[in-house]
Amino acid sequence: MKLPICIFDAKNAVLCPQCEGKVDTGELTQADVDASIILANIAKSTNEIENFTLYSCKEFEGNFVLSLAKNDIMAIRQSRTLYRRLQDQFKSKIWLVEAEETDKKFIEDLFFPTKILSINSVWAPGGIQKTKAVVSGKWTSRFPIDTEKVVRIVKNARNLDIEIEFEDKR
Ligand SMILES: [Zn+2]
Repeated sequence: MKLPICIFDAKNAVLCPQCEGKVDTGELTQADVDASIILANIAKSTNEIENFTLYSCKEFEGNFVLSLAKNDIMAIRQSRTLYRRLQDQFKSKIWLVEAEETDKKFIEDLFFPTKILSINSVWAPGGIQKTKAVVSGKWTSRFPIDTEKVVRIVKNARNLDIEIEFEDKR
């Protein structure tokens, strides 16, 4: 397991002076610390998590955006149990994204498992550049992803203004 804080700190839910210093200077956030402790805790009973790499966790308006290694995200997506075990430990919604990914992939990850048909830059009135994402299918009240939240997370994490459109607008 690789975490933003030391493994020892995460396992014991304490911070060594070095990690504490990083929190003080803002190099690490409280969300990085909390997510590390949560992962270390779940790892005690879930072997798969022992191999995970958490790059960072950002908390934003009660959303937790976890940057993980690609394989870790695949493992979580393949196991509902693992996903629930993880989600249950956070006080609100978790979003799984790959570390170091492109803006396009970042948006696709936020929408998983819904398919994104296209992501393009468009010019909005007033000469503002926006990113338009077209989501497959049509919106219904049962659509599982809060698109307003996605817009705010993308703005906060990537400083991109996105517009979400559904393929079928009827
Ligand atoms: Zn430490």
